[in-house]
Amino acid sequence: MIIKTDTLLESIQRLSPFQKKALSKMRLKKVLDILRYFPSRYGESGLVKSIEFLMSGENAVLFGKISKLKTAKTWKSRVAISTAEVEDSTGRIKLVWFNQPYIAKMFSEGNLVRIEGRVSQRRTKIPSDSEEQLYISNPKIEKVSYIPEGTSDSLFPGEENHNLSPVYPESRSISSNWIYHCLQKIFSAQGGSASGGKNFLDTLEDPIPQEILKKYSLPSLKTAVVWIHAPRKKEDAEIARKRFAFEEIFFIQLDRQREKYIAQKEKSFSITKKNEEMRDFIKTFPFPLTLAQEKSIGAILSDFKTGHPMSRLLEGDVGSGKTAVAATVSFAAVTTAPPNRKFGNLQVAYMAPTEILAEQHFESFIEYFSKYKIPVGLITGSGAKKFPSKTSKDRWTKISKPQLLKWVENGEIPILIGTHALIQKTVRFKNLALIVIDEQHRFGVKQRMQLRRKHDIAPHLLSMTATPIPRTLALTIFGDLDLSLLDELPAGRQVPETKIVLPHQREETYEKVRVELQKGRQVFVICPRINDPDPDKENVINAKSVKSEVLRLQKKIFPEFKVDAITGKMKPLEKEKVMKEFKDGRINILVATSVVEVGVNVPNATVIIIENAERFGLAQLHQLRGRILRSSHKPYCFVFADSKSQKTISRLKSFTTAKNGFELAEADLEQRGTGDLAGAKQWGISDLAMDALKNIKMVEAAREEARLLIEQDFDLKKYPLLSKHLSQKTATHME
Ligand code: ADP
Ligand code: MG
Repeated sequence: MIIKTDTLLESIQRLSPFQKKALSKMRLKKVLDILRYFPSRYGESGLVKSIEFLMSGENAVLFGKISKLKTAKTWKSRVAISTAEVEDSTGRIKLVWFNQPYIAKMFSEGNLVRIEGRVSQRRTKIPSDSEEQLYISNPKIEKVSYIPEGTSDSLFPGEENHNLSPVYPESRSISSNWIYHCLQKIFSAQGGSASGGKNFLDTLEDPIPQEILKKYSLPSLKTAVVWIHAPRKKEDAEIARKRFAFEEIFFIQLDRQREKYIAQKEKSFSITKKNEEMRDFIKTFPFPLTLAQEKSIGAILSDFKTGHPMSRLLEGDVGSGKTAVAATVSFAAVTTAPPNRKFGNLQVAYMAPTEILAEQHFESFIEYFSKYKIPVGLITGSGAKKFPSKTSKDRWTKISKPQLLKWVENGEIPILIGTHALIQKTVRFKNLALIVIDEQHRFGVKQRMQLRRKHDIAPHLLSMTATPIPRTLALTIFGDLDLSLLDELPAGRQVPETKIVLPHQREETYEKVRVELQKGRQVFVICPRINDPDPDKENVINAKSVKSEVLRLQKKIFPEFKVDAITGKMKPLEKEKVMKEFKDGRINILVATSVVEVGVNVPNATVIIIENAERFGLAQLHQLRGRILRSSHKPYCFVFADSKSQKTISRLKSFTTAKNGFELAEADLEQRGTGDLAGAKQWGISDLAMDALKNIKMVEAAREEARLLIEQDFDLKKYPLLSKHLSQKTATHME
């Protein structure tokens, strides 16, 4: 059969309806998809063998036809013994199962099977009867639809068979074995019709330029495909993985560098402010800026002068003072007149992830800008507000959305704060010069570009995040952004006391918490899950749930205080209500999951209890702890660990000592891989590439090569394959 990369899998293998469904869930549709469906590991036992080469004592995988199925009971102990023989083109071997009488019933004479197990030798007194001596006892057996042609022989002619057998992520109807066989079939098929009888693998075109592969000693696509699916040795699999990881990072970089290149060519408002003017504004803060804040402001102001759009990521721990930076540079914008001034100054849009945070910023901005009589607007799902109100110069007032939008469009309101409502089509600005985006990683590159392209003059973009991201990851996913770090907390912050609490210390810890509650402080309790799991299900994970913890704390531990809960599943209005009650001090203890309302400012909450802390990444723990660092009272972080494993405890220990979120993010990447990086999935990067992000050299290489390529050949005219690959990726991104 002739196969191309876009041949449908269903035309290669006959599929049951279940299998069809499973494959579509696994996003396996075409040959190309399955080529890039990589093994999660390689089975140690998986030595695919021909029967004639079998030796006693080794673990082997064989494929063959089964026959002579029999079940009998031993005469003495009445143990059921099933026996059979399996035969391939090179020989036959006996199989024995003890106490598994059903085996014989599951297969019938002539079935094709995959056998995996340890080869043993029977003692025999007849030396010439050597073929009869080998057998496999209690092997794993599985029906297969065909025997892969020479499994490894065909790929490596002349080599001895010592394949590592790949293990793929499975689903109920698509086994790892199925994937394996399907790939074997593809590997031995002929390539496209125009290829004149070539093997399919020889028709694969490599999108990565040859020179780059050579420079970094990476295997070609063909070699990598074979090595990742059917490696002869571990090193081959590793280098193949390295190539695919490089490829993925390289493609992301190309995409980002291209965006960056386009942005650099665009025009935006140039904002030049005198130092004294800025200093006067900064003086109105009730605190001196940290050095890190000053540096970031300096970097942004110099970006503003270029006349081309800024794209900058401001990364700073919770409480590092990102809002003050945003406010200062916003001030620079809204006190600058557009070039052909008819009416009003430049404008700023400030986007927050939730209504609560938008409200919070609205209040801070009123505080900062009222002295200058600069109006501020707020738009969220639930309505619109404007400062100042007509009747009172130091109050805000509710107004209708259309009214607010009118004033934004005619330039009368220079600062508009809001949630996603801010990017709706109906929102138009007169002279939008700066977009500030707070805490929205999901706000991807494409959306950023869309927001930008709505305007003739591209606005500057300041993206802010408290999520500690390892440097390599930031360089990759935010490859089009310049980076400013707020790596210093304001002076005078109280250092939190962080303590790992073992199960037997629970009671005494609650008493400590009670003391803080009695002083009037408030408490967060974080649980890993919302509901209790269904106890009938297998593999229930024993983790605290918000639902049962709220009852337990209220009834059994803190009956004298008010305990309530907030979860991501609640409706926005319900959430707002609970959050407001907590902010106002009417709730003493708030039980929540980890995802809720990052960045909410409740200075009086100075205690946080984290349940099942072993289940959180270090960076995530650090972020949770950040919620209690907003006042002058002493903060406490109690980390409840259920696991007694030494590894877990020592990992948690590093959390109690480290002060810096970035350090912890790097440690996470190092120790646990990426599964925990606040959900690797959200960055749209495969586990394979995530793993490669441990390697700064590789990331820098991919970045540099992408930059050079785009600089020399923006349209990738010399690299049509690469160009095709990229536009395909972009297309699927936009779906
Ligand atoms: P985040 O970086 O988490 O967004 P915020 O901007 O909300 O932090 O700032 C947290 C708190 O720190 C606010 O109450 C803010 O007024 C205060 N703050 C900001 N900068 C400084 C500073 N340089 N010195 C003291 N306090 C500051
Ligand atoms: Mg913030």
